[in-house]
Amino acid sequence: MKVVSTRVGIGFDAHRLSRGRKLVLGGETIEYERGLEGHSDADVLMHALTDALLGAVAAPDIGSLFPSGDPQWKGASSQLFLEKAREVVQEKGFRPQQVDVVVIAEAPKLSAYLPSIRARLSAILGIPENAVGLKATTTDGMGFTGRGEGIAVQAVVTVTSS
Ligand code: MG
Repeated sequence: MKVVSTRVGIGFDAHRLSRGRKLVLGGETIEYERGLEGHSDADVLMHALTDALLGAVAAPDIGSLFPSGDPQWKGASSQLFLEKAREVVQEKGFRPQQVDVVVIAEAPKLSAYLPSIRARLSAILGIPENAVGLKATTTDGMGFTGRGEGIAVQAVVTVTSS
């Protein structure tokens, strides 16, 4: 009998909000007066999820794979990072089974965008939409997210040996 190995990965990221930037979350462009600062498109959701996948197979983190000093990632779609992380997971003999993601933001309201983000994550990771947990929460005005200084994301992923 083949023994299946299960692993869990955790990812966290936060970016600062500023004027004159487009807000991109989970590959969706969100209508808002400010966007996230960063070298790439600053998609904090993709970054946290990418790190969760890499962490599940004990691979080097997103900053090691895609250094922010590298001009090729300037303005890059962070979807590329998630796609690459999925490849790394596969190369290590695992595949994603399920993810759960929480976006921590005082504003804007994200509920209208969640279905399309969920569909995109499902397609990139090759898992059903009902295996993609995705929600947004506020911190009741407390902390840097509560003051609207930035947006943070936590992500957890399960992978199994294939
Ligand atoms: Mg980041």
